[in-house]
Amino acid sequence: MAVHATESEPPVPAEAAAGVEDLNPYHIARRQFDHAAQYIPELKAGLVEFLKRPDQVIIVEFPIQTHDGNVRNFVGYRVLHSTVRGPGKGGIRYHPDVTLDEVRALASWMTWKCAVMDVPFGGAKGGVVCNPKQLTKDDLRMITRRFIADLGENIGPNTDIPAPDVNTSAETMAWIYDTYHMMHPGENNLPVVTGKPVDIGGSLGRREATARGCLFCTQRALERGLVSALDSVRGATVVVQGYGNAGSIAAQLFAEAGARIIAVSDSRGGIANPDGLDWAAALKHKRLTGSVVGLPNAQVVSNEELLTLPCDILVPAALENVIRGDNAADIKARLVAEAANGPTTPDADRILFERGIPVLPDILANAGGVTVSYFEWVQNIENEQWDEEEVNGKLLVKMNRATDAVINEQARINQSLDELKAQREDRGIEGDALKPVDLRMAAYVLAIRRVAEVTLKRGIWP
Ligand code: NAD
Repeated sequence: MAVHATESEPPVPAEAAAGVEDLNPYHIARRQFDHAAQYIPELKAGLVEFLKRPDQVIIVEFPIQTHDGNVRNFVGYRVLHSTVRGPGKGGIRYHPDVTLDEVRALASWMTWKCAVMDVPFGGAKGGVVCNPKQLTKDDLRMITRRFIADLGENIGPNTDIPAPDVNTSAETMAWIYDTYHMMHPGENNLPVVTGKPVDIGGSLGRREATARGCLFCTQRALERGLVSALDSVRGATVVVQGYGNAGSIAAQLFAEAGARIIAVSDSRGGIANPDGLDWAAALKHKRLTGSVVGLPNAQVVSNEELLTLPCDILVPAALENVIRGDNAADIKARLVAEAANGPTTPDADRILFERGIPVLPDILANAGGVTVSYFEWVQNIENEQWDEEEVNGKLLVKMNRATDAVINEQARINQSLDELKAQREDRGIEGDALKPVDLRMAAYVLAIRRVAEVTLKRGIWP
């Protein structure tokens, strides 16, 4: 059964009121948005409110007869945040901790990410509350089919296009395509979902795209001088948290670019070796045993310790809220490149900014995934298959352009704080004094302005 929910104002949580950092991802996304909107004084208050709220929230509940013969009920969410710049786009996550607020946050980050990258999509995200570690492949296939069938016409090649995320893969995308195709026979349904297997319309380079985009963005940022005396990933020491699609391929591509991977982790813990780890051996060990932990010639570290190891580049590639107000002061990396969505909280952002540690924000640094998803969608519509070099070449152009745009936007804002302050006063806007922004705020400002411009050019209906 599908329930279409409207948005209500989130309550102030007790812990936030008590001075403890509020880790609700949706509250964080709203805080980030509100902060960024202060730097765009020309935006009308009603437009700001419209851009902040999701267009549509769908909650589905369905039963599945699982492998053990039991009937279990599952809850799934699909949030469409914005379709101003194109159809909704965003992954589907399977995880026991999925909540509606997490999906709402992730959907809004997709809107800003697509705008930063200048790909013609809006933002969306989905999730099913389930623990894939306790389910069989057949269970997961049935959950996927039932979820997609229940979403019905709320997804489509021109309305809302899913993709992989945590605990979903190319195989899951093949099931999504197949289910949707059964519901719409006789049509070219390949563009309804991206991240598909290459022999079912998937794009070459999509599997690696999130990590490759992260590498391209990091390389460009270093060339632009973001970190003193470090102008390349070649020779840099790298720590990667999370060893799935984003993390393990980031370790591979950074290593192939000449970096030394000194620590990696997954949900069961981490391993470290200051002389360097063999990313392929770690992957093989994870495939054989379920974890990177236990790889010979590596010291075991906890995920908390791993984040605070001295290194040049820290790549969080697992889940949200791992770099927080309570551990940001201990981070010893010189640059953070966010392959995951939402790994750094606003309190941590402030601390890292004050400490001079740049953070390449998720809505830029992990946007390679959605960018190659866009390429896949175009190939599906045109019935084409581009070779991998072409895909990677186009990704490089997009990542460099977006990285430059965000770095330039940061400089523009920070050089015009007095002007912005005067504009705010002219419009009678009250609030705290404007402070210099970090790269996340610069990316947000760029994205919000782009979405607002298109909203106004299209004209507010009717
Ligand atoms: P995945 O399921 O392939 O891998 C997730 C990895 O994180 C696994 O190795 C898991 O063991 C590890 N992990 C889970 N909990 C952890 C914890 N508490 N500490 C350390 N490691 C933990 O998922 P993925 O697709 O690689 O996604 C990872 C992150 O990248 C997510 O934030 C996702 O939203 C983001 N992302 C993914 C894509 C994509 O195309 N797959 C695109 C953009 C962003």
